Amino acid sequence: MPVGGGLCNMDCPVCKNAMITLELEDVEIDYCTDCGGIWLDAGELELLLGEPEKARSLLDSFSLDSESTEGKRKCPICDKKMQKINVGPSEPTLLIDKCRKGDGLWFDKGELHDIFDRAELDEDNRIQKLLTEMFGQDQN
Ligand SMILES: [Zn+2]
Ligand SMILES: [Zn+2]
Repeated sequence: MPVGGGLCNMDCPVCKNAMITLELEDVEIDYCTDCGGIWLDAGELELLLGEPEKARSLLDSFSLDSESTEGKRKCPICDKKMQKINVGPSEPTLLIDKCRKGDGLWFDKGELHDIFDRAELDEDNRIQKLLTEMFGQDQN
């Protein structure tokens, strides 16, 4: 785990525990130590991805999933129900939660790492390596 995490003023939308702030290459992310979920404020995913072209094509692949039976979560900022977003096009489907007002994105445990895999970044992408170090051991 990177050091320097402090309590932030946000509660995890899944388990309602206070999340902590972690710094990933100057980008502050909110992390729940209980369920392993991560909240990214609007624009932070692009910052983490670091490659504007690839970030854009990844974001362009987002599509609203209105059929999902996954439970809806509430945005930790505005407290409104978030939308389920399909990150396409590859299988298996990756579903993330997005605030309707654009506050940010919620990733369940492992999903942020997954999304980096799908963005086809350079192999030496530092954030992806950090994510693997942080969360990789728990992946199959
Ligand atoms: Zn949690
Ligand atoms: Zn919101």
